[in-house]
Amino acid sequence: MVVQKNLETIKQDIKEACQNSNRNPDDVEIIAVTKYVSLERAIEALDVGINHLGENRLEGFLHKYEEIGPRATWHFIGTLQSRKVKDIIDHIDYVHSLDRSSLAKEINKRANKQVPCFVQVNVSGEESKHGIQPEDVQAFVEKMKNYENIQIVGLMTMALHVDDEEVLRGCFQMLRELKETIQNQGYSHAPCQYLSMGMSNDYRIAVEEGATHIRVGSKLVGREIEE
Ligand SMILES: *Cc1c(COP(=O)(O)O)cnc(C)c1O
Repeated sequence: MVVQKNLETIKQDIKEACQNSNRNPDDVEIIAVTKYVSLERAIEALDVGINHLGENRLEGFLHKYEEIGPRATWHFIGTLQSRKVKDIIDHIDYVHSLDRSSLAKEINKRANKQVPCFVQVNVSGEESKHGIQPEDVQAFVEKMKNYENIQIVGLMTMALHVDDEEVLRGCFQMLRELKETIQNQGYSHAPCQYLSMGMSNDYRIAVEEGATHIRVGSKLVGREIEE
């Protein structure tokens, strides 16, 4: 049981990171990112008690959803093309990659109920990364009040691909500060209580900096398929 062993390690890491930062480990949700693994491995994750699964591609999501269905809580973490929204939006529990108004408009139109969304923020400043620029996030969130089916539950980021702990920490701190600023506005359409940050390489730092949702792929479920 590959996943079970990895899960124990990750839970221990979360516990320590929470001790370091005076947090409660129950406030950290582990999302198993299953984009590199088979349906069988995703089911193994569910069987060891992970309820939250993340996929970044429409095809990968639909393939697994067909078998697993609403037994899992589904997080869509990848770039979502507007024209594909209608195919999945009613099966998705959380969208982590809201990064443009046109996408919000399409989700609003196609969803039959409110969709909890994270706004993806490009905190690293890398041009290749998706996400809204930090200075534009507040105006973007404010604009979302026009879309009754969009609920902004938090912010999401992918940190730089570096080993420099201070650089990573800086990215996560920036996201946390932005989240607090928005939370303090008290918008009814944007409670913005969550922080989706931290992947296999950097989840310990992300938890120390306040992550409420970590998205862990290779270190949790392994890697069977190359992207
Ligand atoms: C692939 C992916 C992850 C998980 O990556 P690992 O490094 O394998 O943990 C997390 N978030 C997003 C948005 C991803 O695309």
